[in-house]
Amino acid sequence: MMQKVGVLLPIPLSQVYDYVVPESMSLAVGDMVLVPFGSRRLYGVVWRISDFPETSKPLKEVYNKFDLPTISSANLEFIEWVANYTLTPLGAMLKLMLSVPQVFKSLKRQSKKINKGLTPHPDFSPIQFSSAQDLTYQELKSRLEQGYSVSVLDGVTGSGKTEIYLELIAEVLRRHQQALVLLPEISLSPQMIERFAKRFGASPSLWHSLLTPAQRRETWKQIVKGEAKVIIGARSALFLPYSNLGLIVVDEEHEQTYKQDEGVIYQGRDMAVVRASLERIPIILASATPSLETHYNCHQGRYHKVTLESRFGEASLPEIEVIDLKESKSKEWISAPLFHEINKTTAAGEQVLLFLNRRGYAPLTLCSACGTKVECPFCTAWLVDHRVQGRLVCHYCGHAVTQLKECMSCHAKDSFVACGPGVERLAEEVAGRFPHLNYCIISSDLISNVQELGLVLSKIKIMKFRLLLGLK
Ligand SMILES: [Zn+2]
Ligand SMILES: [Zn+2]
Repeated sequence: MMQKVGVLLPIPLSQVYDYVVPESMSLAVGDMVLVPFGSRRLYGVVWRISDFPETSKPLKEVYNKFDLPTISSANLEFIEWVANYTLTPLGAMLKLMLSVPQVFKSLKRQSKKINKGLTPHPDFSPIQFSSAQDLTYQELKSRLEQGYSVSVLDGVTGSGKTEIYLELIAEVLRRHQQALVLLPEISLSPQMIERFAKRFGASPSLWHSLLTPAQRRETWKQIVKGEAKVIIGARSALFLPYSNLGLIVVDEEHEQTYKQDEGVIYQGRDMAVVRASLERIPIILASATPSLETHYNCHQGRYHKVTLESRFGEASLPEIEVIDLKESKSKEWISAPLFHEINKTTAAGEQVLLFLNRRGYAPLTLCSACGTKVECPFCTAWLVDHRVQGRLVCHYCGHAVTQLKECMSCHAKDSFVACGPGVERLAEEVAGRFPHLNYCIISSDLISNVQELGLVLSKIKIMKFRLLLGLK
């Protein structure tokens, strides 16, 4: 009896197309094949197989089979689940998984020799744990053996969360499985990669938007073949066709960048949990400030929370004091205790950072004669006074006007007063009260490019500035 296969194609349709299997070919679900589609040939994945009686209507034949490993059923289940959940055509999900069209182009040609690098070694340079870390590690390690579980690794910055999951990854490597670490794109820094390389004696495989096509192709192949053992990636790495996944870690799980909000819309952290459940493997969500959703899931008993109390080494939490400015009744923004601390710190040769989440000079401008607030005519948000640039700017739509001389309601002259502090206003006070200190303002309004920022940062490093006014 001949066989027919249903092939899913990486096009934005949910349909699976039927082809007959040539007698010389043997196919399994998850095999990657080349098939005729209209006047083109497309690559796709065998989704289902069934018998094909000779009496049936004729079908086109599968053209060729790629010399690549079979994609495991957990991978296929995963994209089907996400497609249903996000109302995305199944073919579009497949496109995410086979996101490297170059792999399928050179069907016959032998790909060039590539430098595969070293394989991460679990026993290369194990980390020495503190007793608190060891306790947490042992608890999480015992969960590695129990199939699917979600653990929330909650610990303040500096408590040594990364060391713990590095050792868990080592355990996964000893079992010859793959480990996937998701990071917010911004955290894919050389320092982070360095930590992995130092622990395992070899660089991890990376997956992010800045890879070259050649790097993408090779990394994808190594992942599907199971040669890539430790994969660090941004959220899209979740959709790669892993051959033998043993652990997923989502670091900084609270980060908003896990949300994909165009194309296929999904929350990467939550889809990672789904993937772990379909693969029947453990997942660890790590954060110093777990998200509300994760907090709730712990509370409901769905996720298991492990708290790492103490800080690693000598690091300790800062002392925090809340000062109510209403009590001081002063017109100044820098309170007496803060004034004292700034003097004390700078006298000791150290630097001070005043952090304020308000750009510009003042968030609100008010007519002292009639009480009119200066609003944006397009969004009814207040216009923010940017005195350095001599403008009032709407932070929502960008609408800007030059400084006003006269009230538009009561026509009083020079009646406007600034209400509340922005970084520029705070800087004015700093200049007046600490005339002997060099300061700088770090704000996107005043630093226009990366070079300028680099210059400011290098001056901060050499202590050119004693007082920094910064905002996010
Ligand atoms: Zn007025
Ligand atoms: Zn506006």
